[in-house]
Amino acid sequence: MSVEILCSQCGAEAFLTREAVYEGFSKVGETLSCSACGFVFASEESVPFKEKEAAPQVFTDADRSAKIKVFEEGENQRLCRYCAEYVVNPFMQFCSHHKKEVQATDSCGDFKPASSDDSALPDPF
Ligand SMILES: [Zn+2]
Repeated sequence: MSVEILCSQCGAEAFLTREAVYEGFSKVGETLSCSACGFVFASEESVPFKEKEAAPQVFTDADRSAKIKVFEEGENQRLCRYCAEYVVNPFMQFCSHHKKEVQATDSCGDFKPASSDDSALPDPF
């Protein structure tokens, strides 16, 4: 892929020449130079691109927080593990309302949201 530049040295519309710099067998960097006059640019930032290369930004911060929200809301709200009657010990998970063993991922019509001071419950997962 050739990148067009407007050379700050010779003023020509030229192409950016990218050449890998090797030290022994390992690539240590790249030189960026003008295809017309051979002027070497000090860094990527100092290359006079004709059109600024758009940095591919697939995920923005906004996308990321939207995705987390999907998991936090909705179906999960009535799960036993979030219920005030949910009791967990090292051997079993227990519903103190129905007096039976439950799974953290069970959902229940008698769901009662755990009060905020129970938020320190150990996570069964
Ligand atoms: Zn040039």
